[in-house]
Amino acid sequence: MTQAHTNKRFEAAIALGGNVGDVERTFKRATLRLDKHPDITLLRRSDWMQTKAVGGPADQADFLNGAIVVETTLAPGALLRVCQEVETHLGRDRSAEEHWGPRTLDLDLLLYATQSVQQEGLKVPHARLVERRFVLEPLAQIAPDWQIPGTGASVAQCLERLPAECSF
Ligand code: ATP
Ligand code: CA
Ligand code: CA
Ligand code: CA
Repeated sequence: MTQAHTNKRFEAAIALGGNVGDVERTFKRATLRLDKHPDITLLRRSDWMQTKAVGGPADQADFLNGAIVVETTLAPGALLRVCQEVETHLGRDRSAEEHWGPRTLDLDLLLYATQSVQQEGLKVPHARLVERRFVLEPLAQIAPDWQIPGTGASVAQCLERLPAECSF
């Protein structure tokens, strides 16, 4: 069960990733499912982008990556739980997977308004957000001016700051 903690609405950014099955269809179903949640409204979505896998086992399939911005009355922890329920519903089996290995769907909570969250099992901004081109690029399409707490910079600025040799 998830409950709205307040009537106040916050914008949150969520990354989507996957490389098993019909990922485009999975992303469509995931975003629809999130939007159908009574406490979540889908506001914007990026293009889906094909990327090379980073880390994890060698030779795994390319990933599809994207980002969405939602409006929600859920607290960050409750929003992450909903994301994890959607991952499971769409075939993700955490007990059977390798670190950074193949998966049907990965939903990461990237940003939650201008808040920093340091909880057990939840860090926002996402700990590896500013080092990942495959996350910043789609996010910059839909939220370029969002200030990333702790960086003093916007999403677009963090993308620009990535070293040219950083391909991921
Ligand atoms: P990465 O975090 O490097 O992208 P991953 O997405 O493959 O790796 P998972 O196995 O999906 O990692 O998640 C590992 C744990 O990360 C989860 O159990 C979750 O509690 C924790 N976590 C911490 N902060 C976040 C966040 N902002 N969004 C999603 N999960 C988070
Ligand atoms: Ca809704
Ligand atoms: Ca991830
Ligand atoms: Ca994840």
